[in-house]
Amino acid sequence: MTTNHLAIPVLGALLALGACQKPPSNAAAARQVFGNGMQWIDLTHPFSSQTIYWPTAKPFSLEVVANGVTPDGYFYAANNISAAEHGGTHLDAPIHFAQGHRAVDAIPVRQLIGPAAVVDVRDSAGWNPDYLVTVRDFERWESGYGRIEDGAIVLIRTGWAQHWSERRRYLGTPKTGSAAVAELHFPGLDPEAARWLVRERRISAIGLDTPSIDRGQSRDYLSHRILFEADIPAFENVASLDALPHIGGYVIALPMKIGGGSGGPLRIVAAIPR
Ligand SMILES: [Zn+2]
Repeated sequence: MTTNHLAIPVLGALLALGACQKPPSNAAAARQVFGNGMQWIDLTHPFSSQTIYWPTAKPFSLEVVANGVTPDGYFYAANNISAAEHGGTHLDAPIHFAQGHRAVDAIPVRQLIGPAAVVDVRDSAGWNPDYLVTVRDFERWESGYGRIEDGAIVLIRTGWAQHWSERRRYLGTPKTGSAAVAELHFPGLDPEAARWLVRERRISAIGLDTPSIDRGQSRDYLSHRILFEADIPAFENVASLDALPHIGGYVIALPMKIGGGSGGPLRIVAAIPR
């Protein structure tokens, strides 16, 4: 595909910029990336008191420290924020479910940047809050777009983001606290598919537009465990996947670099070559 051929040198230049101190060898390609050569899409839900967190997690809060003109005559604004690691658009580090594996600050940046494979399962998951994304879904995608390439960031579009503004629909329950966990209903990744991705493909990371890579009704969080044992991080509550093509986009997913963190707030964006 033409866009793909264009995109490869462009991404190479982008990665070169991030990885070394020297000027990029292909300055024109770099200018294309950071000029008008790319359409940039923000895949991040904003953080506010409305942001959806796991029922047992401390939600996001913002305390205003200052917001006004100081006695010295200049304007000054500052806030304190607090929240659980896991909520809103966020990254799960492998250590979240795999002892001894990488924490947030130990994940190589290179693993968080890569070509997007956007797997659309809305036809199955859009109406089924307990849907498991299967190996068949990935095989179907590959029959249309080719084998999932090494280093890909797989983004699963279940369509669940359309419920983001309605906590009850998005999580399956309006409740909070440990009693709510049994009532969670939203699509997730079949552990068999997680195993297939780990064994048969060489992806860098995976994300989806639901609260968890395991479906709401999971009790053993097996997809988390399989992926994280293989040091493949997950992005949860990803937004705006409707704006991405199935193939040809690039993802940059940079979490807050929490030392020893099991996860963290994530700013995830995609670039699509024009
Ligand atoms: Zn998480």
